[in-house]
Order: sequence, then structure tokens, then C-alpha cells
Amino acid sequence: MLLHLMAKHRSLSGTLLYLALIALIVAGFACWAFNASLSSSLAELENSANQRLDLYSATLDSEVERFARLPGVLGLSPAVVGLLHAPRDLILQKQVNRYLEHLTERTSATAIYIMDNQGQVIATSNWQQPDSFLGENDAFRPYFKEAIIGKSSRFFGIGTTRSEPGYYLSQALDDNGQAIGVAVVKISLSRLEHTWSQNKALVWVADANRVVILASRPEWKFASLGTLPPQDQQRLDETRQYNRLKLRPLKIDLLHQQSSDARVVRWMAPSGVADSPLHRYLEQTRPLAGSNWQLSVLESLAPAYSLAYSRASLAAVLSILLLTGLVLLNERRRRLRDKLAAREALQRAYRQLEQKVEERTADLLSANQQLQAEVTERARAETHLRQTQAELIQAGKMAVVGQLSAQIAHELNQPLAALSTLSANTIKYLARGNLPTASGNLETIGQLVERMGKITGALRSFAHKSQASGGQAALTRTLDNALFLIDQRLRHGAVEVIREETPDLVADCDPNRLEQVLVNLLTNSLDALQDMPGARIIIRSRRLDQRVELTLHDNGHGFSAKSLQHLFEPFYTTKPAGVGLGLGLTLSASILAEAGGSLSAANHPQGGAIFTLLLPALTGESHHD
Ligand code: ADP
Repeated sequence: MLLHLMAKHRSLSGTLLYLALIALIVAGFACWAFNASLSSSLAELENSANQRLDLYSATLDSEVERFARLPGVLGLSPAVVGLLHAPRDLILQKQVNRYLEHLTERTSATAIYIMDNQGQVIATSNWQQPDSFLGENDAFRPYFKEAIIGKSSRFFGIGTTRSEPGYYLSQALDDNGQAIGVAVVKISLSRLEHTWSQNKALVWVADANRVVILASRPEWKFASLGTLPPQDQQRLDETRQYNRLKLRPLKIDLLHQQSSDARVVRWMAPSGVADSPLHRYLEQTRPLAGSNWQLSVLESLAPAYSLAYSRASLAAVLSILLLTGLVLLNERRRRLRDKLAAREALQRAYRQLEQKVEERTADLLSANQQLQAEVTERARAETHLRQTQAELIQAGKMAVVGQLSAQIAHELNQPLAALSTLSANTIKYLARGNLPTASGNLETIGQLVERMGKITGALRSFAHKSQASGGQAALTRTLDNALFLIDQRLRHGAVEVIREETPDLVADCDPNRLEQVLVNLLTNSLDALQDMPGARIIIRSRRLDQRVELTLHDNGHGFSAKSLQHLFEPFYTTKPAGVGLGLGLTLSASILAEAGGSLSAANHPQGGAIFTLLLPALTGESHHD
């Protein structure tokens, strides 16, 4: 989990570094716990070793002290003193022997014996045994040498007769201040060793020669803790302290000095094969009072090490848990921080968004206002455009009127001239009293005026300003009007007009405007048919679903390719200046488009031009004046 968490946030090298750091911290904790545990265990062990030393030294002391006064007491025995004065008195010797034997049994000493001042044993407790000391000379033994010069002596050594280790307590026996002999009590300390080994204690006592004289383990006994200098070795040979026993070295390696009287050592039992904590001991040494011996106890460090190892493991586990906890805590804090940062970022983004929305709204509002202003402006422009267009159409119409005016003037001239002649004649006939002729003339005048009125009426009707929207244009009627307006030109140009119409077609269109379109188209045809023999205009109309179709086909010169391309463009004209404005077709097309229809032009396959008008149809007939 720790790994997973770390891997999530770090690169591989980072993770490795992190792991190394964690391993270092864990190892540090473990080492610390190990050392702390070991040193506290060592302190405890030192304490317990001290207690053991107290106990062992006390028991050893009491074991020896029991016999301490015994040699001196022997000097109080008159028999003993007597024997020393008369060593050859066999009866006395026997008596003393018995006494000593009895004393030995009572005190559980190993042996008690009396030596004369030459070191010869003159009485002994073991007088009855085959290897009795009796007669032996131990003058070379230190316990004799020291005792004879007045010092009470204590000596540990191996017996020369029985090779039995023992502790020798000796004291000079004097008579009137003159040393006459030495009393020796030999005691065995094996009982003590037996108790130690039973208690599984690791304890030994080394003498001044650093030779182990008492030990809980048999293999330690008479082992040398150091190498003896040659002169000491010689001395030992002389005193036969260890009865010429070969002293083995006891290999105890000092690992470190724990305190002034405690040290950590390594001792490998003969079976031990490798160095391990099992071979480490705390060795605590103390000099024994009243002797130059050293009492040592060894406390195995194995439990201390195993405790230290388990504490180190525990510390490692705890530190891993602690680190995991810390990492988790850190992770949580980081997440929380990230979360807060994310929330803040979100809030910031939200505020920015809100601000943007506000800005956009303001922009939109202003755009909307601008748009509305533009719409109003457009509407105004459109109205203006419509107005302008209407004016343009009207202007176009007036241009047509202008063009028509010459022929209309010509058309009116004829009846006017006739009117003039007729009215003059009528006056004459009235003067002559020829009333019937005058009345006939007046009738003709009336007809002429009516015809003139019709012409001007048609022109006025054509010229009148029409409304752009709506209307009902009866096709035949509208065509009649248009043809009537150009009638003079038709006749003048000898143009044959063929009308193949479907009756009663009504277009949804202002009739006046349609008439303007038709006049435009017909005058264009007349222009194209100018001076053409057999000039002809064929007009056809029909119903196409919801529309009406009107075609004007002349057999004039038709359109050039260029004309066809630009026909409906304003100011496009092929006519000489002053004749054509180039607006006729443009206006016609826009009138029809406004009415929801269309105007198209093409060259007819049989020659000439053909214009096709399409307009929304109205059902039923309508009337148009
Ligand atoms: P204008 O009549 O003033 O020239 P129009 O827009 O009415 O302007 O006509 C544009 C041009 O179209 C004419 O100049 C002419 O060249 C051509 N045109 C129009 N009608 C016809 C037709 N029936 N036959 C041949 N050409 C035509």
C-alpha cells in the first residue's frame, strides 16, 4: 500500500530514493532499538551477575571460613604439641592420628594433618588409608613455607599423593613462640562446584596465576586464562601446585569492556562451530576477600540478543507502521490540499465563467440592441428602397409614357385635325341650314372626342402611380390595355399580333404594374421588329398549377449571347443613347419578383426572342378598368 501510494505520485527513481530513505529510517530505528535493548539487558545482566557474585562469594567464603580456625585450634591440643616434641612416640602418634581422623569426620574436611618444622607429616587423618600422607615431606609447598615463618596460609593446589585438588589452610603450631610444626586442613570445594553446575551457573574461580581452580564446567578446571611467564611456571613446578598437570589455555576473547569489572567476551564451547550471539557472555569478575582469587560469573547474552532482535523487529514494524501512517497522513493532507485547490480553481473558473457570461450577456445585449437598431435601419432602408423602387418604377413608367407621348400626340393629332375640319364644316352646314349633315358631323365629332378621351384615359390610367402590393390582374384585359397604348406603333410597324390566350386567367398582381411590364416587353419587341417584314408577335397564356404563364414571342433579331448574359442588369442596353435607358427589363423583372413571379428571356428555336412571365394565379374572374 505504501509502495502503491508512492508509485502513484512519484517517478521510479523518486520511488527508489524514497524507499531507500524509508529503509534507512527503519534500519536506524531497528538499530537504535537493538542497541538500547542490548545495553539495558547488559545493565540488567550486570546487576544479576553482581548478585550472583555476591551469593557465590558469600557461599565460598562461608565454606572456607568454617575451617579457618581449625588449624590454629589444633595447636591447643596437648597431644599434638606432645607429638611435635616427640615425633617418634608411636602411641602418641596413633592417638593424634585418631584425633585428626575423628576431627575430619566431624568437620567433613578432606584431610587434617600435622607437619613437623621440617615439613614432614607426622600425623594425619588418613593414616589408615593406603595413600596416607604419613611420612610425606611437603616442605616445598607454599602452605608450609608461609606457615612456618608465622603466617597463616591459604593455598589451593592439587594433592601430590592423590592428585586431588583441594584447599589448604595451614597455620604454624608454636611452643613458647617457637614454631615447632604446621597444622594443615585440606578441604574440598567440589561440593560447591557441584551446586554451581547443578544450577547451570557459569562460574569459575581463578587463582593468582590466572588458573581456574574452581569451575561449574569441568572442562574449565585447571585451564589457564593467560600465559604464564617462565619464572612463574618454574615456581609452579617447584611447588607442584597443580601437581605437574598440563595447563590448557581457556580461550576467552574479550569483545569489549562493559564496565570496570564487567566485560563482554566470547567463549566457544568445544562443540561451538561458528561465532554467534550464543557464544557471547557478560563476564563479571570480583576479587575474593581474604585471598588473591578472582571469582567470575558468565551470563549468556543469547537471551539479551534474542530480546534485542525481537525489539529491533518490533521497532522496524512499528516504524514501518508509523511511516505508513505518516505517508497516509501526508497523502490525506495532500489530497485535502489538492481538493481545496481544485475547489478553489473550480470557484475561480466559476467566477470567471460568471464574469464571462456577464460580459457575453452584456455583449449580447449590446449586439442585440445593435441588431435591433440594424433591423430598424434595414426596415427603414427597405421602406426607403421600396419607396425608391416604386419611384424608379414610376420613373420607368414615365419614361415609357415619354416614349409613347410622340405616337399618342400623333394619335391625337388625327382626330384633332378631323375635329377642326368637322367643326368648321358643321358651322357652315348650320349656316346653310343643312341640319342633317351638321348633326351627322356633330355625331362624328362626338365619336372623335370619345376616342380621344379613351386614348388620354388609357394614358392617364397607365401613368397613374400604382401600389406595389396585391391586386387582381385579368390577363386579357391587361394585355388589351397594353396593346391599346402601343396600337399606333403596331399599326405603323405593320406588326401582326397573334393572341392565343387561355380565357379568364387572373394573376395575383397589380394590373397597372403588369400593364407596365407588358408595355415594356411589347415596345422592346417593336424595337426588335423595326423595319422587319412580316413582323409578328405571338402572345400565349396558360395556367400552370398555381401559376399563370404568359409568353411573348416576336420574330425579331433575338438576343446576342452577350445580351442574354446581361439582359436584366440595370442600364444594359444595345439601343442608341437617348433611345434606351437599359432599365425596362430590370424594372419588369423586379415588378414580377415583387408579385411573387418571375421573368425570363430566351432565343426562340424558330428565331426571335421569347419572354416568359410567371405569376401566382388567382381563381375566378376579376374586372379591371
Ligand atoms: P432598353 O429597351 O432601354 O434598351 P431594356 O432593359 O428594356 O432596355 O432592354 C435591354 C436590351 O434588351 C435592349 O437594349 C435589347 O438589346 C434587348 N432586348 C429587349 N427585348 C428584346 C427583344 N424582344 N428582341 C431582341 N432584343 C431585345
